[in-house]
Amino acid sequence: MKLFRLLTLGLLIILSTSTSAKKLNILVVTGGHSFDHQSFFAMFDSFQNISYTELKHPEANLQLGTIDQKTFDAVVFYDMPKTISETEKESYYKLLKSGKGLVFLHHSQCSYQAWDEYKTIVGGKYHEEKNTPQTSTYQHDVTFAVKITDQKHPVTKGIKDFEILDEVYGNTEVLPGVTPLLTTDHPQSSKIIGWTHKKENSRIVYIQPGHDKNSWFNPNYQKLVNQAIVFVSKK
Ligand SMILES: [Zn+2]
Repeated sequence: MKLFRLLTLGLLIILSTSTSAKKLNILVVTGGHSFDHQSFFAMFDSFQNISYTELKHPEANLQLGTIDQKTFDAVVFYDMPKTISETEKESYYKLLKSGKGLVFLHHSQCSYQAWDEYKTIVGGKYHEEKNTPQTSTYQHDVTFAVKITDQKHPVTKGIKDFEILDEVYGNTEVLPGVTPLLTTDHPQSSKIIGWTHKKENSRIVYIQPGHDKNSWFNPNYQKLVNQAIVFVSKK
C-alpha cells in the first residue's frame, strides 16, 4: 500500500512537470500542527510560477528521501512533528547533499526539539522546554511592523516595510551565522524574524510569520514566500 502511494505521488509529480514545464515544482510538507488547510493552499494556488505537491506526516519524512530528487526544485516546510527516526533524518541529509532549496515557515522552527542538528538546518530554534532562560514564548493576534533589512536581496526585493497581524515568537534562538532578512522592534517578539543561510549545498530561508490567513492573504507575505521559493530553487 505504501509503495502504491509513493508510485502515485511520483506519477503526480511527473504529470505536473509535463503540464507546466516552466513552473517550479515544490513539495510542501505539513502535519504535526493544525491549520486552515484551504486558506493556506489558496496562497500556493495563487502562485502562477509554482506547482506544488503536499506531503503529509507521518509519511512525509520517508517520502522526502524516496522521491526522485530531479522531479522537484525546493521543499517548503509548514510542519511541526515532535519526533524523527534515524532513517527519516537521512532524508534531510540527502536534501542538503543534493542542494535542494528549503523554505521553513512559522512553526516549523519548533519541530524535533530533541534533534540538535535540526536548528542548524533551519538556522534557529523555538525552545519549548519550560522555565529556563532559553524558553521561547508566543503571543497570538499581534499587529506588528516588519522591517526589511536589505531591499536588494532576491527574497525581499520590491517589498517595503509593512505591518502584519500574526503570532509573534519571543526569545527564540537565531544562529549567529544567518543573514537577517526581516526584523521587528515589537517587544514581545524576537528581533530577527526572517533570515537566509546555507547548509551544505542548500539555500535555506526561514520566515517566522505565517500562523493563519491574516498572513497568507497579505500581499507582502505572499511575495516574500514566493520570492523565497524562487531564491532557494536556484543552484
Ligand atoms: Zn502559530
